[in-house]
Amino acid sequence: MPKDFLKDARDYYDCIVIGSGLAGLTAANTLARAGHSVLLLEQHYKLGGMATWFKRPRGHIFDISLHGFPIGMIKSCRRYWTSEIADSIVQLKNIRFDNPMFSLTTTFNRQDFTRLLVEKFAVPIEQVQAFFDAARGMNFFDDQSTTAGQLFERFFPGREDVIRLLMEPITYANGSTLEDPAISYGIVFSNFMSQGVFTFSGGTDRLVKLMHDDLVKNGVDVRIKSDVQKIHVHHVPFQERRVAGVTVNGRTIRARAVISNSNLRSTIFDLVGESHWDADFLDQARAVRLNNSSCQVYMALHPGERIDESCGDLLFSSTAPLFRTEALLNRDITSRTYSFYYPRTRPGSDRCLVVSSTNANYRDWADLTPEQYEHSKRELVESTIDDLERYVPGIRQKLDHAEASTPLTFQHYTKHLQGASFGTKFEGLAVSRNIPKQIEGLYHAGSVGIIMSGWLGAINYGVIVANDADAHLLRSPVSIAAGT
Ligand SMILES: Cc1cc2nc3c(=O)[nH]c(=O)nc-3n(C[C@H](O)[C@H](O)[C@H](O)COP(=O)(O)OP(=O)(O)OC[C@H]3O[C@@H](n4cnc5c(N)ncnc54)[C@H](O)[C@@H]3O)c2cc1C
Repeated sequence: MPKDFLKDARDYYDCIVIGSGLAGLTAANTLARAGHSVLLLEQHYKLGGMATWFKRPRGHIFDISLHGFPIGMIKSCRRYWTSEIADSIVQLKNIRFDNPMFSLTTTFNRQDFTRLLVEKFAVPIEQVQAFFDAARGMNFFDDQSTTAGQLFERFFPGREDVIRLLMEPITYANGSTLEDPAISYGIVFSNFMSQGVFTFSGGTDRLVKLMHDDLVKNGVDVRIKSDVQKIHVHHVPFQERRVAGVTVNGRTIRARAVISNSNLRSTIFDLVGESHWDADFLDQARAVRLNNSSCQVYMALHPGERIDESCGDLLFSSTAPLFRTEALLNRDITSRTYSFYYPRTRPGSDRCLVVSSTNANYRDWADLTPEQYEHSKRELVESTIDDLERYVPGIRQKLDHAEASTPLTFQHYTKHLQGASFGTKFEGLAVSRNIPKQIEGLYHAGSVGIIMSGWLGAINYGVIVANDADAHLLRSPVSIAAGT
């Protein structure tokens, strides 16, 4: 008999959350704390979405997306999760850049960047301060027509080296480009600049376990291997459309509110279906671009082998002469960001690991034959180890395990269309926010745009949407969807 992953699940919940990415997890927890009955459905056998991990023989544990986030995570985790989670967030103090234009080490905050820009890049201090103030003063309601490229041209005309320093890490952090709105760059950049880059001590497996414990304590019914096939919409002619529930693993469960943490476009076009939206909303949704995807190479050293900590925590490495978005996405890889995980990253462990990340185009991998795909993955692993030798001589001999993931891997495990690492481009945010105006009680929370993605963006968006759903639940009578 196949296992029933929905055994003893009820036929009705106040809210169903589809997907256990950081936004889905946080939305579920927030609503349960507010006293609602919540069912959390995850299609994978593990929680966390992109914020997850995997294990390999001999005890290696790889984190997928634990590379760095802004300090705001401490406040968000304390407020919406637990003190234990918030207290486990620690700073990464050693951030390195190495490219044909410059090599430097920084703590990646405003004070240190100001020092570098003035002393190493010879930019007048007034200009640096004016740039930081302009970036920090940006908010989402500002003009969206100015691009990040135009912002840089205004403050640092002709300074490709300065632009590279300021932009390259943010492109890596959320896929944003020089052509995206300056506000989305400015907000994320300022978040990092306030105090630097932070990580979670103990790894994603520990984080997700602590989150799971809190969800259960707050009464959330958490189900893995529960794939939602359909979101049901109650459609009375000449009246509002209203969400009615979902079909999951072939079973229909009713709810007064549904929050989808699945990819925005999948939510609209696949889970709900085109017949339930206004035509102009569908046009806007069709125009939303997916974000790019990523490749990663996961490398574990033999137990007990060490890497010198002078390698840094995060290393933005590139052999490209200039900073260009196309070059970052090109199959012919010139830029890699290395995350070094020392034993202190997982207190009590004797392991050193390195994860190399590169932005990537889905089509470059999806169009390969199975043989070409396997060959390209092996090539990616080999070329990455060769490149890493520049920073860690002898690394090849120290390695116990190495493997690669591609856009197809991310698509497979998270169902994100084209393996999009950060959901959609910035225009996805307005469409995501307008979903409940089209279908009462239906919400989307998850990576959209630049501000609402990444670990901090996803958690905060989960809270915002949970608060909207909470207000809806308090307004709408239980009898509607409960069928009582
Ligand atoms: C390689 C990589 C590196 C990254 N590095 C960083 C970093 O250093 N710092 C940072 O802040 N951010 C980083 N990110 C981004 C960050 O991980 C994500 O923005 C964030 O985790 C996304 O959270 P989310 O809530 O949008 O959901 P996701 O993580 O996208 O999860 C969505 C969940 O929904 C589930 N789901 C989808 N459809 C269904 C369905 N029909 N039924 C049931 N479940 C479903 C999926 O299985 C998945 O678990 C990185 C991302 C990648 C890919």
